[in-house]
Order: sequence, then structure tokens, then C-alpha cells
Amino acid sequence: MNHPIKFQPGYLSLFFLTVLFSCQQTVEKQKVAEAPAGKIAIVIHGGAGTIKRENMDSLLETAYRQQLNTALDTAYSILESGGASCDAIMAAITLMENSPLFNAGKGAVFTATGENELDASIMSGSDLNAGAVAGVKTVRNPILAAYQVMTNSPHVMLAREGAEQFAEEQGLQMVDPNYFKTDRREEQLTRIIKKEYGTVGAVAVDQQGNICAATSTGGMTNKKWGRIGDSPIIGAGTYANNKTCGFSGTGHGEYYIRAAAGHDVSALMEYKELSVHEATQAVMDKLSAMNAAGGMIALDNKGNVAMPFNTSGMYRGYKREGETAVVKIFADER
Ligand code: ASP
Repeated sequence: MNHPIKFQPGYLSLFFLTVLFSCQQTVEKQKVAEAPAGKIAIVIHGGAGTIKRENMDSLLETAYRQQLNTALDTAYSILESGGASCDAIMAAITLMENSPLFNAGKGAVFTATGENELDASIMSGSDLNAGAVAGVKTVRNPILAAYQVMTNSPHVMLAREGAEQFAEEQGLQMVDPNYFKTDRREEQLTRIIKKEYGTVGAVAVDQQGNICAATSTGGMTNKKWGRIGDSPIIGAGTYANNKTCGFSGTGHGEYYIRAAAGHDVSALMEYKELSVHEATQAVMDKLSAMNAAGGMIALDNKGNVAMPFNTSGMYRGYKREGETAVVKIFADER
């Protein structure tokens, strides 16, 4: 007995082509339906901690505000001219890494043995691609090395000498380890001083609705034994997903790793449908319950920005389409 389909492969191909075409139509339709409002936005932080108005020298305060404004303006102009969110945040973070004010790049904190060991990571929310470097001592801008790991290697995280060798092969600027040393951070190692996490981070959404997030740090003062914190760990200190948000954390990194802070914010938005404000606050509350000090920045694909923290201050700021830039330091500026 003849089987009508078996002997007519033409029908079969037609059937599969029709199915394929209608699937593609559905994907296209979903893409359009999911398209964001199209507002570009950038949010940055320069670390949280015991940052009090009464202890802050006015010249230093001005320098911080200026540096945050410059980083915001630089990143925003990239987004405004149609640039990618990853390029915008790398520009902001590179500026902060080059500034001795922050615990990232030049001005990073000292390890127990008087060295500077730097960590950085970046994640692209459009394809969940990510890159990170940990414990590098000679890469001038660790964030650029993290980006190279994401885009030019089959890996997500490279550490120490291997990461340095890779960065050099990618043509990045290498420096003598002494380049990172500043008197201010050396003094912090020898004195018991106020707890301050000066890690830098940035999250942006571009005209295509793509979110990118990144974090760069020297880690924690007096760290020992090759300690790596949350900043280079995807899902802890950095996370991005176009469907939910981009995230960058600052604070006592061990707790951010244990709380899987960045991924937790994203998961609360994806599975519980919380807003970016509700999700970041929920994770901030979880960290506070663990006695963890710190803060976080996040934004969603509509440009909604959240910047919660549980310390007396956090260097922070954002700029959204059609609005002037906002820069804040102290908790009472909320
Ligand atoms: N989170 C960083 C770390 O634990 C420190 C910081 O935020 O400054 O390495």
C-alpha cells in the first residue's frame, strides 16, 4: 500500500518549510513585542562604605563628583551617538580605573604583602556572553582585558600570569606593578581606617535595548592568599540579561558571592516579575541580614535605575535620556 507522504518528499519539505517560516515569524514578533521603550541610560558607582559628610574633605568631595560626572558624560555621549552599551561602560570604567580616587586600576588597595592585584568582569545582556580577569598585576586597564576575554577567547575567566599573557597578546597596555601604587592606599594598609569599598561599576542600555554591565576592583585591603572577591565573578558582582537587568555590586565581596547577588536580582525579575527597584532592595535586604556591608547599581531595559546600599554612602550617579545627570555620594542625598 502506498503511503501518501512517504512517496512525496516534496510535501514534506513544504511542510517543514512552512513550520520553520512560522517559527521565525513568531520569533520576529516576540522580538518586536519585547522591544524596550528605546530610552538609553547609564548608571555608575565608585564604591560604597563609611563615607560620611563630616569626614569628607571638600576638595576631595568635589574631585569625586567631577570624576563621576565625567565618566557619566563620556559614556552617555557614546550611547547618544548610537554606540554599544559595552563600549559606553568600558569608557566610563577606564576613566575611573585611571583615576587614583577609586579602588580600581591606579589607586587600587594593597594586599597584605603590599601588592596590587586587580579583578574585573563584563557581561553582555544580549547573548549572556561574559569575560573576567582575576589577580592581575600588570594590565593597566583590567576592564579592557575582561572585554578581550569575552570577545576574543573561548573562556569566561582568566587569572594571574595567564591573564596577563593573554592581555599582552591582545595588544593591551601593560605597566610596571608600581604604576598602581598610591600613598593613600599604602597608608590604608598600615593604619586601621574606616571601611570603604572603592570598586567601580557601570551598567548601560543602548539604542538597541542591549544591556551591558561591568565591575573593576583592587579587591579588599589587606587581602591574603590570592583572595578573589565577587567583582570578577559573573552572577555575584556582575550580571546582565536583556530580559531583566544589568547589575554591578560593591561591598564585602565574600557575601556577594555567597548570595549570588547579581544573578539573584535578575532571577527575582525574571521568575517573580519584580521591578528593578524591588529586586535590588530584596537582595540588599538579604545581604543586610547576612551582616554584609555594601551597595549595588542596576538598570532594566526601559532605563529604570536602582542604586540601593546599606552603608553611610556610595559614590553613584546616572544619566537617562532627556534628563540631566544625577551624582550623589552620601546616604542623606537619597
Ligand atoms: N566587592 C569588592 C571585593 O570584595 C570590594 C569593593 O567593593 O570595593 O573585592
